[in-house]
Amino acid sequence: MERMAEITFDVGTEQKEKTALLDLSWEEVTQIVAGLGEPTYRARQIWEWVYKHFAASFDEMANLPRVLREKLDERWVISPLASATRILSQDGDTQKVLFRLADGQTVETVLMLYDKRRTLCISSQAGCAMGCTFCATAQGGLARNLTAGEIVAQVLYFARYLANSEAGPQMNVERPTSVTNVVLMGMGEPMHNYRNVWSALRRLTDADAFGLGARHITLSTVGLIPMIDRMADEGVQIALAVSLHAPNDALRSSLVPINSRYPVADLLAAVQRYIDKTHRRVTFEYALMQGINDSPALAAELADKLSPLLCHVNVIPLNPIPDSPFQPTSDVDTARFVEILRSRGVAATVRLRRGIEINAGCGQLRRAVQRRGAE
Ligand code: SAH
Repeated sequence: MERMAEITFDVGTEQKEKTALLDLSWEEVTQIVAGLGEPTYRARQIWEWVYKHFAASFDEMANLPRVLREKLDERWVISPLASATRILSQDGDTQKVLFRLADGQTVETVLMLYDKRRTLCISSQAGCAMGCTFCATAQGGLARNLTAGEIVAQVLYFARYLANSEAGPQMNVERPTSVTNVVLMGMGEPMHNYRNVWSALRRLTDADAFGLGARHITLSTVGLIPMIDRMADEGVQIALAVSLHAPNDALRSSLVPINSRYPVADLLAAVQRYIDKTHRRVTFEYALMQGINDSPALAAELADKLSPLLCHVNVIPLNPIPDSPFQPTSDVDTARFVEILRSRGVAATVRLRRGIEINAGCGQLRRAVQRRGAE
């Protein structure tokens, strides 16, 4: 399928010297407002403009005095995102935006429109240190952690986009007006940037800030056991997904190198502890690669290990990436794999492959842009 032309545009200003408001906590915003000699209710107004009305500039904050707006504008910006390149799939139901950050790093965010859901796949790091052999993001290594503001900004950018009927190219499905689901399945390992990710998640779920229901958010991890235990104690209903991709250590370590540190049995024990504490069903992700991890024997081995757990397996046909020996499993073999899981008592579904033609797989657009830059 042909993809639509890429469009690059500014979403913020060049802002290296200015702090982004999205990187500030509520307490810090109140301090700034007090420092400017303004009453506290002004902080509340600013916070609401940002988190409820998705304001992109202080100028839009109509109920603030002009002088105050100008003072804020001199020293702060709202979003840490500088510019964006948007790619839309042919059917218009998937779009991917590559954001450039103030220091030139780039991260990807993908918006997927379904009948009732508008799901946003966000990034938690620029690059990734986990080195999974089939993943495009891994190829460049880790550049740096995203700040909480950079994580939140991806969501607010799309919230604004969806709320604004004038914005962007029209999509085919009925125009949705809000972000209903967020998955941390973009670039990076969210558990490797735990503090900033959770500070962002608190703001996304806080009723006084963005106010998205925690149950509508999924955090996907490669399986950093100490952080899974930590998440179990957060007392938040955010869903956990674990990228398994293989049922035993020999195979998993060859695909997911961090498995040597956190092997399968220990990982499944951590997931069991998580379920015991939260009573929540966990999702396992399993990207099927032809001739690598897709045999009936491996399906049976996987089912035997997972059947005691309150879980669900998301089988994902591999998104092929350049310079990779891995190919996706055929539809027939995918169906067979899923059937074996189900017949052995493990709930499993094949996740729809979205946005293949726009490089919507993990880290692929960034990689493609980097390559073009290098030519
Ligand atoms: N680091 C986190 C989240 C980011 S990746 C994690 O590992 O879960 C989100 C999901 O996409 C993970 O399950 C990851 O293994 C998977 N993935 C990465 N590259 C892929 C590819 N080329 N095809 C299909 N899935 C891929």
